[in-house]
Amino acid sequence: MSFSAFNLDPSLVRGISDLGFTDPTPIQQAALPEALAGRDVLAAAQTGSGKTAAFVLPILQRLHGRTEPGTRALVLTPTRELAAQIHEHLLALGRHSRVTSATVFGGVKQGPQERALRAGVNVVVATPGRLLDLIGQGCARFDRLEVLVLDEADRMLDMGFLPDIRRILAKLPASRQTMLFSATLPQPIVQLSRDMLRDPARINVERRATPATGISHAVLPVPEKLKSKLLVELLRRDEVGTALVFTRTKHRANRLALVLDKAGISCDRIHGNRSQPQREAALKAFKTGRLRVLVATDLASRGIDVADLPHVINFDVPAQVDDYIHRVGRTARAEATGSAVTFVSPDDEPAIAAIERVVGRRIARRTIDGFDYAEKPAAALEVPIAERIAAIRAQKAGERARAKVNAERRARNGTPSGSAGNKVSAHPAAAPGGARARYRSSNQRRNAGR
Ligand code: AMP
Repeated sequence: MSFSAFNLDPSLVRGISDLGFTDPTPIQQAALPEALAGRDVLAAAQTGSGKTAAFVLPILQRLHGRTEPGTRALVLTPTRELAAQIHEHLLALGRHSRVTSATVFGGVKQGPQERALRAGVNVVVATPGRLLDLIGQGCARFDRLEVLVLDEADRMLDMGFLPDIRRILAKLPASRQTMLFSATLPQPIVQLSRDMLRDPARINVERRATPATGISHAVLPVPEKLKSKLLVELLRRDEVGTALVFTRTKHRANRLALVLDKAGISCDRIHGNRSQPQREAALKAFKTGRLRVLVATDLASRGIDVADLPHVINFDVPAQVDDYIHRVGRTARAEATGSAVTFVSPDDEPAIAAIERVVGRRIARRTIDGFDYAEKPAAALEVPIAERIAAIRAQKAGERARAKVNAERRARNGTPSGSAGNKVSAHPAAAPGGARARYRSSNQRRNAGR
């Protein structure tokens, strides 16, 4: 089947060929005829399947050539990165049409988004939180809305966006075309689809999400404390060129980036504590090849779309099987090939076993020849919190003991107690509480998640 089968407007055919797409992917083959006919769609689509064009092309086909202002289509997505990526796709495919569009998400200035909404751009690609804020401020009008898309609905559920989505739904006209895309279809999403879709075309709904074909999976067993060393070793050996590396937490992403930096490997990180401009700059530098490694957490992983990304490395095994599918889906996009390597410490074995059940086979274990698995690590990526507090206490106790000796010596020599004496008394009062407070907050930050 070719794109010509869909009778798309010539402006869109040009957009498609500009992007170098020759044949529609399976999800596009299944969804495009239904969506172009105006039907509601419920699609279980993996990331990397080409699902964005499956909903963007019908929107553009509906809106091209229409000149009246007013927001006609709304795409809701879980993350800023994904919103930005969908918008890029929309701009590229619609380059020769006159459809206007804007993104709406947090972490950037509200003014331009507010103006775009007030002006009634044709298509809005938004994350739920910022959109609700702007709706609350009376900036957004959806009375002319014709199409609603929920993308990565399962991730929106995971992120607690379902109540926000229902609040947004209440502001939209009931008569519209609705398309729901989700990698997996857990019960709350099935319920949501029942509430919001009318006689939908069901695409791939039977199949549980599995990682895209074309990905080779490998497990590298390694003691937790040697993970950083193993990663540096893989990068040094040129076994891996550019790689997207996933860690469990923001803190671990930061620490790992420091280790790589020290080893002379160009890298940056994206996670929830990074500002939107920082994330965009990091992603751009990685996409254009200026960085060899991008370290990311799961929250930031959706929407990372890098052409020809050959390697995804799970520095930490993801806690959720779906996260594994989404992480490794960053490579082998649109039926290309890629490799997904997962570092597995003995504690991670149960988590990898759950992943293997979904992948449908045992993933090959590999060891790296010449790597010293028995070596004592120079430093752990994370020093356990109790150890860090104990070290600080020992250091402070040493300082106090030395200060006491000095004070006694000065007293013996008849030196009046001066500034040094004040310092001595200041330490015990200030340091332990201060140190504790500092570490407690860094611990909380780590636990605050991804
Ligand atoms: P998506 O699943 O929508 O995020 O798309 C994954 C990747 O596949 C993106 O890089 C798209 O540009 C690419 N893609 C989408 N449709 C096609 C197609 N028909 N042929 C080749 N690549 C495509």
